[in-house]
Amino acid sequence: QAQSARLYTEEDPVVILSSDSLKQTVLNSSSAWLLQFYSSWCGHCIQYSPTWKALAGDVKDWAQAIQIGVLDCAHEKNFDICKEFGIHFYPTFRVCLFNHFINWADRELQTVRQLMVNFVQNHTKHDWPVGCPPLDPARSEEILSLMGKKTEFYTAVIVEDEDSYIGREVILDLMPYEGLAVKRALSSDKLLMEKLGISSVPSAYLFYPNSTHTVMNVQKRLRFFFSSFLKLLPGVHRKQSASSLQRPQPGNNGQGTQVEWKEFEKSKVYMADLESGLHYLLRVELATHKTLEGEELKTFKDFVTVVAKLFPGHQSVVKLLETLLEWLVSLPLEKIPYDAILDLVNNKMRISGLYLSEQVQWVGCQGSSVALRGYPCSLWTLFHVLTVQAANRPDALANTGFEDDPLAVLQTMRRYIGTFFGCRECGKHFEEMAQESLNQVKTVDDAVLWLWRKHNQVNARLSGSMSEDPMFPKTQWPTPDLCPTCHEEQEGLHVWNEQMVLTFLRQHYGASNISPKYSS
Ligand code: FAD
Repeated sequence: QAQSARLYTEEDPVVILSSDSLKQTVLNSSSAWLLQFYSSWCGHCIQYSPTWKALAGDVKDWAQAIQIGVLDCAHEKNFDICKEFGIHFYPTFRVCLFNHFINWADRELQTVRQLMVNFVQNHTKHDWPVGCPPLDPARSEEILSLMGKKTEFYTAVIVEDEDSYIGREVILDLMPYEGLAVKRALSSDKLLMEKLGISSVPSAYLFYPNSTHTVMNVQKRLRFFFSSFLKLLPGVHRKQSASSLQRPQPGNNGQGTQVEWKEFEKSKVYMADLESGLHYLLRVELATHKTLEGEELKTFKDFVTVVAKLFPGHQSVVKLLETLLEWLVSLPLEKIPYDAILDLVNNKMRISGLYLSEQVQWVGCQGSSVALRGYPCSLWTLFHVLTVQAANRPDALANTGFEDDPLAVLQTMRRYIGTFFGCRECGKHFEEMAQESLNQVKTVDDAVLWLWRKHNQVNARLSGSMSEDPMFPKTQWPTPDLCPTCHEEQEGLHVWNEQMVLTFLRQHYGASNISPKYSS
């Protein structure tokens, strides 16, 4: 059973069903379901599972219309249900709609996705699946009537050839978002093409709420670029769940104090975030520990070493970290009371002009409410900066015991997160990811990419969850507007150009891209 538990896990974007949950979940559902009945001992199923996960991840936002489920027929408790459904071979695919199950033979990723679109489209005519917008082409009168009209939301029109799927895929991608409507129109509609001034397809046209309208300017005419552009429009948000609606309101810190919004550029990294993160880490998170000893003390020393040597900060902050490091190294103690560290950081060093601001100023990490973003965002940012510094400055860790160690930053991060990070669940997840693949990191560049990949894995898992700030939806990052060359498409599926991603990360998290704005 250990293997079946691993073929699909709760981390994957599929719904894991069992005999107890299958009927209850799938029958009478307001969406359709595409199910894979597999067996964890079947070689084909094992080989196919990455494809199925890729498909499920690709269509995660379509869940209101169609969801992806798996059921393991090799699990003893599922024997009866697999018998009831007449599953003789693995994998077997079934689609469930209106309480009926239909066989489904196709397995190729792109064609499965297209069949899913056809399938949903055939049923939207009956207002089902519930909440799924129409996928049939809009008529030109409907679209042209929007010209010069003020509305409460954006309307995007994807104009394309009849056999193109991009329009319908973008409509489904944007289903969980509010603040805009997406429609599809056909290139055979000559009047529309002429009025909108569109000469090649696929193209997208955007009607703004303020009555202006224009062709949408994306670097590549791919589904991912169109969807990503629309999700990032100001005023377009992921629909909030009932629980997230109870969050504190924007700008209010929960104690009635208004926090002033700071303008920032998302193509920059802000020193204020890094310093505020370090302040929180040193004076709040670690200060909950009365003393540091044994492994905890070693983890803390290693953390201070890595930051002191690699942090591309103000002179006074770097000097403060270096002094702290010298002090830690010079102490022969096995156990250090944390108050002594605080005294050093807050009082003794201040006399010599070394100073880390005590003011929390989130800029790139500010959230629409104080419960969101902030510290965890700054911690990711800090570690991305450190992995990039380690790659950009190969000699920086000389004489620290970390020289020539491509894993210096990641292992230190892993131990910090596992030992001190207040969010225990996060630490557990991060440790699982580290155990799974950290041994594949062989160079400092691999380390930069590993952290980027894992951060995106976390983003995918958390998208739509309560820790998502509706103003900063969790996306696969960097988005095409930040790095168009990072994105490509192969056989209809989005793929990363990792060489370009590496170049981008080294620039984005490099010292010269860190803005001093708002930092004291
Ligand atoms: P963050 O995810 O914090 O990202 C900060 C910034 O980094 C973004 O604004 C963007 O500019 C940039 N960025 C985004 N993706 C990437 C990438 N792939 N590579 C490089 N840069 C990127 N929360 C949970 O609820 N459950 C968890 O299991 C969990 N695990 C965590 C593990 C770690 C190690 C950390 C540091 C945090 C974890 N969190 C977890 C918190 C969560 O990941 C976010 O930090 C938090 O929800 C704030 O999100 P955010 O929108 O500010 O963006």
